[in-house]
Amino acid sequence: MDRIIIENLKIYAHHGVYREENERGQNFYVSAALETDTRPAGTADELELATNYGEVCTFIDRFVKGSTYKLIETVAEKTAEALLMQFALVRSVTLEVRKPEAPIPLPFESVSVKITRGWKKTYLSCGSNMGDRKAHLDGAVEALKADPKCRVLRVSDWIETAPYGRTEQADFLNGAILLETLYTPEMLLAKLHEIEREHHRERTIHWGPRTLDLDILLYEGCVMDTEELTIPHIDMENRYFVLRPLAQIAPYERHPVLTKSIKQLYEALPETTQLPQEPPA
Ligand code: ATP
Ligand code: CA
Ligand code: CA
Repeated sequence: MDRIIIENLKIYAHHGVYREENERGQNFYVSAALETDTRPAGTADELELATNYGEVCTFIDRFVKGSTYKLIETVAEKTAEALLMQFALVRSVTLEVRKPEAPIPLPFESVSVKITRGWKKTYLSCGSNMGDRKAHLDGAVEALKADPKCRVLRVSDWIETAPYGRTEQADFLNGAILLETLYTPEMLLAKLHEIEREHHRERTIHWGPRTLDLDILLYEGCVMDTEELTIPHIDMENRYFVLRPLAQIAPYERHPVLTKSIKQLYEALPETTQLPQEPPA
């Protein structure tokens, strides 16, 4: 990806652990490498199509001056996040915050923190089989749209499906959502749980009836397995109600472990997958 590079923007600000630093202030130097596709602007020679680096510098200057944090880690984290939310064409940013006048009683040139943050592509599945099912699924999309750390890019049709696992319950409405997000997988899961709670989701019976279930199917190329999170979603390749809507919005996306496309996984489902499966013990 192309990059726009800003080096050592000098900003007088008041970050630091000591009161003296907060009161008197000191010079900070911020460097940024913004990942973005510069080709449209470069080809047309149009500022409108570009990320205006003058505006980026002004934005960083205001932002870094506008608050007081103890740590340059926090300055970097918050500034990177704000930049990504403000400048729509920027996919990721590497940001270095340098503090050459830091209160260290030893000869040194500079101390800095350098981080890379960016928008991550993720696919979610959603399902409901209680109450106004459509309202719950639409509500989930609205809640994601209202979050500045998420951008909803595509939403599948909501489809009617037979219950999976415990079949003595009402039919489901299911769908899939493509998002870009600034959240890590763990933060995204917490956000999804929060949305589920707003829709009065209760965790009583596993695979039981629910107003709203939101799962992370894929997250960039991420493969992880912790107590809290399995990505890609553990059973997605066996589920018609996951693969059908996902194949609608992402047929050529690949499952990073099975290395098959979603379309291939969907087409490989046995005819019987729409029939009852065994619930977990
Ligand atoms: P299933 O995960 O088989 O679809 P479920 O969605 O009904 O079942 P829940 O009760 O909603 O299960 O979730 C139980 C836990 O699963 C969550 O609290 C979460 O920690 C964990 N989990 C693991 N991987 C994922 C994932 N990729 N997306 C969402 N939750 C996950
Ligand atoms: Ca689920
Ligand atoms: Ca779930």
